[in-house]
Amino acid sequence: MLIRSFLLQVLVLLVTTVGTALSAERPNVLFIFSDDHAPHAIGAYGGWLKSVNPTPNIDRLARQGMLFQNSFCTNSICGPSRAVILTGKHSHLNGFMRNGNKFNGSQQTFPKLLQRVGYQTAMIGKWHLSSDPQGFDHWQILPGQGQYYNPDFKTVEGRKRIDGHCTDLVTDMALDWLKNREDSDKPFILMCQHKAPHRTWMPALRHLSLYNDIKIPEPPTLFDRWKDNASPARHQEMEVDGHLNIVYDLFGPPVNGWDPNKGRSVDKSGFRNLMKMTPAQLAAWKAGFADQNAKLVRDGLTGKKFVRWKYQRYIRNYLRCVKGVDESVGRLMEYLKSSGLEKNTIVIYSSDQGFYLGDHGWYDKRWMYDESMKMPLIVRWPGVTRPGSINTELVQNLDYAETFLEVAGVKVPDDMQGRSLVPLLKGESPRWRDSLYYHYFEFPSYHMVAKHYGIRTSRYKLIRFYQFDEWELYDLKKDPDELKNLYGKPKYADRIAELKQELENLRTRYRDNSDVSVMPAEWQKKYRVDRN
Ligand code: CA
Repeated sequence: MLIRSFLLQVLVLLVTTVGTALSAERPNVLFIFSDDHAPHAIGAYGGWLKSVNPTPNIDRLARQGMLFQNSFCTNSICGPSRAVILTGKHSHLNGFMRNGNKFNGSQQTFPKLLQRVGYQTAMIGKWHLSSDPQGFDHWQILPGQGQYYNPDFKTVEGRKRIDGHCTDLVTDMALDWLKNREDSDKPFILMCQHKAPHRTWMPALRHLSLYNDIKIPEPPTLFDRWKDNASPARHQEMEVDGHLNIVYDLFGPPVNGWDPNKGRSVDKSGFRNLMKMTPAQLAAWKAGFADQNAKLVRDGLTGKKFVRWKYQRYIRNYLRCVKGVDESVGRLMEYLKSSGLEKNTIVIYSSDQGFYLGDHGWYDKRWMYDESMKMPLIVRWPGVTRPGSINTELVQNLDYAETFLEVAGVKVPDDMQGRSLVPLLKGESPRWRDSLYYHYFEFPSYHMVAKHYGIRTSRYKLIRFYQFDEWELYDLKKDPDELKNLYGKPKYADRIAELKQELENLRTRYRDNSDVSVMPAEWQKKYRVDRN
């Protein structure tokens, strides 16, 4: 009896020890993800907005972990980026090529594979893949784009309006989920995905006067006229000047004969968002802009002065939304610290793509140019990533699924197309890739950005706008703003031939057999609306 009891105790001790060792080996993952947060709107990335100090909490995360300087998406648009992250496959294989597609949730995704090895999986916030999430023990999502104020959330039980500001609510829900799982001995992955700072930029009321007393720096390319680009850059509809709607996007008065309903890319969701506010919220919102709006009417600004005014209103609201996201990061980190989870939890900050913050005179994303192809990626992994380290390898959202799987000790399936970032996070220097593949599929559509694919190396970028049979080549070392198109210059003939070959190799390797035909001349003519 005594021996049996002793043996039982040894067994219990063994099981407990092994259990502890296992959970020590398998860290938790907190994936904090936002929408349209450009790296150059993060202080740690050191862009031209750094002086505004937009993100102290995210910057702290970078000081404690690794910042990826050359992090990119494969297709710069909301839904597709998320589908790439879930599947580790390019858009043409996971089937979600453009917004408006419906994600086939029955396919292989990393959350399903993590569930199988005992991870708790949760998805809270913006999902944007149309079909309901699969592979999550818990999910609570914003339907579609979601709304900034008093949004509906969808769960397995249905839709329910919850009062408050979207960024705060998503953070509250993420914290609730973390707190309610405190007794669980399973490792977890929590995807906390914000709507902010997506169009139409509506910050929390407490941030409404933030930055009012400073002039935000302007991008050096605010008045770019795309003279050297292939023609699609001159056919788009995403200009701060010509398309950013003073009424719907900027909550200003319809000055300069501006028709609130003008253009294909009008976003009335700003208007719908206002209708969702309570009377008290709406009154505070209107009061926040009233003086500046009245002054704009009095001053009668036109031309470049008016563009500069629009830029200031746009960037302030954008950075105010970013401030909310940054505070969310702060609250989540504070909880990890106070709960003791901090030591064994990998924290990742990322966003689905970059964004034009007036760069090249634009807002929105989509292009393979660096402002929108780049994604922020900051990873804090205590005991593994060296604090304050910067990695410059070419990485993509295609690599996230593989990374999560390796972290959890799961073999990466052969049909995933990216590569685990774990060796880089450990500070190792494995032989890494030399080039990235990109393909954007949404045209004609919002903002009228032509379909294109291309290759980016650490030095060069070659883009093909196949519908219009046009190319661009940039030397990113000499011309980081991509203002000088070198395609067709005799001096670069060998370089172009080499890049074209490598681009074809990438298309073969990634099995991109999608239609890349040149469109008939009549069709092209219809979309060549040069406003220069
Ligand atoms: Ca987005």
